[in-house]
Amino acid sequence: MNEFDAPKELRKFRPMLLACEAIGWLHMAGKARKVFLDDPENNSGKNWYQEINDFMGYFAWLDRLLDQAYDTWKLPGKPPGREKLIKTMLEEFSKKPAKNIVGFIQAGHAMASGIEKNLPKNTSAYLGQDATHMWRSSAFGNPERNLLADPPRVITNTGWTDLLSEITSILESLEQLGKNEAKDACCWWDWREKAIGAESFLRKAFTSTIAETRLPNNDVTLWDQSYVAAALFKSALAGALIEKKKFPWKNVNLKTDTHWRLLTIGIGTDHYESRAVKIGDWSGSKLAIDNFFEEIRCLIEADLSIGSLLYADSSVQVFSFPCELNTGIDIDKWLKYMQNEADKLADKYKFETPPYCNISEPSRSLVHMTKEIEKARETLSVSLHRNWNISDTATFKGHVCPVCLMRKNGDKTKKKTPCKPCKERREHRLAHWLNGKTTENSIWITELADTNDRVALVTMSLDIEPWLDGTRLDFIRAQAISEWRLHNPDLIEFWERDETKRKFETNPILQNDVFNSLVKEIENRIIIGFNKDDLLLSNLQEGYRYAEDLPSFFKSIVEDRFESISEDSSDDPKWDDLDDEKRARWFAHQFFRKLPSPGRIYRFQRQTQDFFERLLSGFRKTTANIEAPWRTKRLFLKPKNIDNRWQHHQPYNGNYNDSPVDLLFDKKADGFITITNLARLIKKDESQNALEGKTIPLKNDDNQAVDPLEIESAEVLKNLGVYHPVIPLELSPVRFRVLLPLEAASECVDQAIEAWNEEFSRVWDRLPLRIGVVAFPRKTPFQAVLEATRNLEDRLGKSEKVEKWKVEDNTVQNGDATLRLSPSDDERARSETKTIPITLPDGREDVFYPYFAVQGDDVRSSLDFKHPEGQVYRHAKDLKPGDVINVHPARVATVYLDDTAARFDIDPPKYLADWSRMRELWEQVKRIAPSQTALKGAWGELTAKREEWKDPEDGDWADGGKDAWLEYAKAVFANRLDAEGADLDTLTSAAGDGLLKFCLDWNLRVLKQKISEDES
Ligand SMILES: [Zn+2]
Repeated sequence: MNEFDAPKELRKFRPMLLACEAIGWLHMAGKARKVFLDDPENNSGKNWYQEINDFMGYFAWLDRLLDQAYDTWKLPGKPPGREKLIKTMLEEFSKKPAKNIVGFIQAGHAMASGIEKNLPKNTSAYLGQDATHMWRSSAFGNPERNLLADPPRVITNTGWTDLLSEITSILESLEQLGKNEAKDACCWWDWREKAIGAESFLRKAFTSTIAETRLPNNDVTLWDQSYVAAALFKSALAGALIEKKKFPWKNVNLKTDTHWRLLTIGIGTDHYESRAVKIGDWSGSKLAIDNFFEEIRCLIEADLSIGSLLYADSSVQVFSFPCELNTGIDIDKWLKYMQNEADKLADKYKFETPPYCNISEPSRSLVHMTKEIEKARETLSVSLHRNWNISDTATFKGHVCPVCLMRKNGDKTKKKTPCKPCKERREHRLAHWLNGKTTENSIWITELADTNDRVALVTMSLDIEPWLDGTRLDFIRAQAISEWRLHNPDLIEFWERDETKRKFETNPILQNDVFNSLVKEIENRIIIGFNKDDLLLSNLQEGYRYAEDLPSFFKSIVEDRFESISEDSSDDPKWDDLDDEKRARWFAHQFFRKLPSPGRIYRFQRQTQDFFERLLSGFRKTTANIEAPWRTKRLFLKPKNIDNRWQHHQPYNGNYNDSPVDLLFDKKADGFITITNLARLIKKDESQNALEGKTIPLKNDDNQAVDPLEIESAEVLKNLGVYHPVIPLELSPVRFRVLLPLEAASECVDQAIEAWNEEFSRVWDRLPLRIGVVAFPRKTPFQAVLEATRNLEDRLGKSEKVEKWKVEDNTVQNGDATLRLSPSDDERARSETKTIPITLPDGREDVFYPYFAVQGDDVRSSLDFKHPEGQVYRHAKDLKPGDVINVHPARVATVYLDDTAARFDIDPPKYLADWSRMRELWEQVKRIAPSQTALKGAWGELTAKREEWKDPEDGDWADGGKDAWLEYAKAVFANRLDAEGADLDTLTSAAGDGLLKFCLDWNLRVLKQKISEDES
């Protein structure tokens, strides 16, 4: 049998796989209510499904599929029957390992959340939160919401009723699909999207509350845990169905032996971006790429029901995928099959580049996801990374298409006309817009252009990749050793039910040297050899009591948390490669660190994406400047006479009152839609009637004149009449790029910095915000703008090396540690002040998040700890003057494309703090300077003098030259700007370190800002 029929076989079980996935989403639904938050030990929530009438009566069709499954597995006896099965899945997912289908949900659940819960209950009780302070925290330790004092909707009584009725509706639709034996994958896909898609009720409700109430595990939401557990459950079950009778039911412990693979699909998005001649080419390609990815998702998540999406950015998607437990899954054939399916879809969208497809090695974590993503990006950076037949190449006539450069456009007379597929992409995006699919935002750069006809492309990223692979989590503690020691003065045989029989001994960890003492005690136990009854190890880790020997315990606590089966794992810790001391150090590290569990990894990327989405929504408000009511409006202009050369849905441009006007002709409506910043045409207090009777000369896209537009009437459009002047080009966990009016850019950057300071203050040193602003005149070729953006991002990325910053001072008060730091790599840099919250909302000390990587080997304070490889980490409150910390600095870089050559000439990025200083300085300058003329004059004089005094060859000052220039500057500020006292000192000092240049260049040259007195 040569034919690969596994996909076909799997599709037969689609209803069962999706029903099981749904049970996975819901298996902890009982936690989405107040009783769970009031008392996490209260088990009444587990029977939540009894509140839904008839739930157990659903899915009669499932019995038939279960029978079939048992048949393919050659499992003797009858399957448990759906009612018992569902009940067991909902109630016993965390209990003892099952040898039937329930084992798969246990495996998924254990992987998604079990990693966190290996703290023995008794020893970690002190980490509980109480009813007055039941916080959900962000993935980066920022307290987000007190769930009981300020309950999200789902936690209220009516919220729970609403949730139950939503769940009922999801299950009823599923029941209908199953009963009708719906064959069309689209029906299943629609059902799934409606149930848990981005805007779904269930996703929002579960995202608002937590799956675990103990600190610091209140960072992962119920959604993260449930969704990831369901994804792993689904893939594990699909794997068993593919393995059929080879599935080794008898020989495995499903809960601990199940592994997963990752399926990665990619497309060379950057290629399409770099080929775009106009923004329409890019947004058109992007739309096609988005559709391609949606179809991929439908194939994997619903059609085959083999996995679920775990990560997505603009060019890569990663899904959970089964891993064989025996030899029943032919991974090579599956890879070929998936590749072929992706190829077919890429062909459908006429992509000029082949898609990427890969299936990873098996693993019991998601930390290797980052490497899979990197591998995909690296491959995709070569557009034609493998043989690829481009579709629609039949036309041999005409010019080479200016966009794809691969097909002919079929028209010898028109050089600028793209080929058919490229043209279709442009048109598709226009149709999409006209159908109201992107109403909130604009798609026209012409609409964004500000009063000075300028636009900004703002690009941002958070350095999230090292979080997704777990390396930056080394900083974060699940418990502090000293607190654990304090709350557990005695080690107790807590699993002995009869309290009078419990053995106990004094905790041997020395309170005055907790870290070293812990390592030493563990090392002693390794030297003595495995002892199942050891109280120290079993009080540190729940699983120790069930361990068989130390190497296997080490494997589950240390090795399994790394990329244990990958090809390049030589650096990962292995029991056999280490001496006893190193083994002890690894145990000590893993017992107390916060782990990169799959739910948490999923939350990290969700949270960064969410951060950018919230920024975007803030930018919408900022750019929709309320001062100018016409800024956000579109008009329909009815012409007196129609020119037959005006073409349907073609843009035309003209001029009115010295302002550019861009219009889109609509033949059906016989008129023009404005795609221009109307605030430049109509004054604040005027109505649209101001345009009536006016004439606008018009040119087409090829700059040829057509008949002018004589406006008969103007009215606000019914659909598309209002927009926000922003065009998001890309929004993913790794990158946010948005176009907006240049005059709004500074305020948008301020907002981003403020939000970052607010939400990431505990991790500012290892989750830097990087901001690039490309300012450009509206008519700058889109290619040049994108190239400048890439160069800017490249500069920002390159500056991302670790810097050594020296602590000058540390003030600990009111729950914060305020550090004065001097970036020691850069002598010109001023010292920077950083305030780090070190107290939790309930008044407890935050011993989990605010740690810094410090220079030196000494473990000095009780909260200090040392990574097995040697790096020492220190709590913010324990930093002393003279300590040197590692910092990944947040930076900002700007470039103004007054000339397209400027895209290669980019100033070194500045610290984020310099941006904020520059903004303050500008406010000060505005206050001091008597007039625009005086300011420009003063700056002109100083610039000229500087040129004169500097060496023209290398641009350096001669000895003492800078001091002399600064003296001169001081005099100029005093004479021309009447500056005195502190103002004079600030200006002089800003002139000395380049801040004044940055400030005046940005505000006067780029933004064309004016000082008020001079406006007339
Ligand atoms: Zn083309």
